[in-house]
Amino acid sequence: MPLDAKSILPARIAVTGGAGFLGSHLCDLLLAEGHEVLCIDNFYTGTRRNIEHLLPNPRFELMRHDVTFPLYIEVDAIYNLACPASPVHYQFDPVQTTKTSVIGAINVLGLAKRLKVPVLQASTSEIYGDPLEHPQTEAYWGNVNTIGPRACYDEGKRCAETLFFDYHRQHKMQIKVARIFNTYGPRMHPNDGRVVSNFVVQALTGQDITIFGDGSQTRSFCYVDDLVDGLFRLMTSPPDVTGPVNLGNPQEFTIAELATEVLDLVGGSSKLVRKPLPQDDPRQRQPDIRLAREKLGWEPAIPLREGLRKTIAYFEALLAEKGRRGAE
Ligand code: NAD
Ligand code: UDP
Repeated sequence: MPLDAKSILPARIAVTGGAGFLGSHLCDLLLAEGHEVLCIDNFYTGTRRNIEHLLPNPRFELMRHDVTFPLYIEVDAIYNLACPASPVHYQFDPVQTTKTSVIGAINVLGLAKRLKVPVLQASTSEIYGDPLEHPQTEAYWGNVNTIGPRACYDEGKRCAETLFFDYHRQHKMQIKVARIFNTYGPRMHPNDGRVVSNFVVQALTGQDITIFGDGSQTRSFCYVDDLVDGLFRLMTSPPDVTGPVNLGNPQEFTIAELATEVLDLVGGSSKLVRKPLPQDDPRQRQPDIRLAREKLGWEPAIPLREGLRKTIAYFEALLAEKGRRGAE
């Protein structure tokens, strides 16, 4: 009998990858909703800084753990976000990336099966690879190179989706799969390598803005507050809503447009420079979010300019703090 996530509120909730960019914002939201949060992270790309403000909260607990090893905890629901998300980081140790996605999913699903609790997977638009259909609906099966440098992440995440649906069919488990499109905001790592953090840090420090390729490739950027609201709505949706469901902002921009927007907001003297386009870099990406609108009543509220302003303010403060510490 599937559990209704709503019936277990307030609850003790595990967030794997909780010290990362998205995970830390999700921990904030869950605590604000009155839950207890168990943050599980091995600090591969996440930092203590992201969750430092939560440590004094008696409803927050931090556990250093690698999800490629089994977990023995007691919780009422699990959000599985553990996995490096930036191409630079997930390609640094590609075997570990696949292990985190696949063995991590098996461990988290095994835990959810024993506990009979709902489990949500942070999947990705990379499932669609370099898409031949545009915009991407959940029905599209994708166009992924199985042996390229992005495959450790793309195929790892695809296999994790397979595992979630097999556990669902075989063990009648309550699963939720979110396909997350490019998300940005405060607490991205300054050396994360993703485009928004790169451009903002480059503009703020007067470095060249590095456009890979001719900048005509597109992405659709979702502000983090919108995204974690979507994850929460998915987890608390009726049991028959398993996904996969796209979560992202359908407003599509070229990378060149993003660079101009960042420069316009930051000002300064940075120049735009071209760098080689990484192998298998998707040409275009835009979510079709009709399913999220219909099933979750969700759509993003924060436009790019507003989200960029908040992100720039965060990095400005971070860089100033680093500067002060350096001067001490
Ligand atoms: P992030 O790198 O900031 O966070 C990932 C977190 O997982 C980090 O805290 C890291 O230390 C932790 N982690 C990595 N391997 C682990 C392991 N083996 N055991 C335990 N913890 C581990 O990235 P993010 O942007 O916050 O992404 C979070 C999740 O959302 C990821 O699963 C990612 O694939 C997915 N996602 C993110 C985006 C995006 O645009 N941010 C897009 C699509 C999917
Ligand atoms: N990109 C860029 N300059 C950078 C970093 C990224 O032009 O300094 C491009 C990258 O080639 C890709 C897009 O921006 O086309 C988004 O890259 P990101 O790594 O943020 O995410 P993903 O490719 O996984 O969507």
